[in-house]
Amino acid sequence: MMKPSQKSSTNMTGTLPKETLPINHVYPKNDDRKHRLDSSGQCWCKPKRTDITDGKKVIGVRISHNSADEREFVEERLGELLDEDKTWGTKLIS
Ligand SMILES: [Zn+2]
Repeated sequence: MMKPSQKSSTNMTGTLPKETLPINHVYPKNDDRKHRLDSSGQCWCKPKRTDITDGKKVIGVRISHNSADEREFVEERLGELLDEDKTWGTKLIS
């Protein structure tokens, strides 16, 4: 008995592997809530996604997280850190 699958191999167009670009998370250290720093780019703080380019093409993605303690506003308005351990960190995933 002939199985249909024994016919010529199927054309695999449209199933190219998704290009994975390095992701650079910029997140508030010692924040009131923990941030999700993985390749999903999903976090409770609704982080901002920006493409990193080399001038021509996109070579990565920056995920800028928002702090729960709103240190951005203190830094922006007073030009100083909310507290000395309330700094910003980066984590690169590639
Ligand atoms: Zn976050």
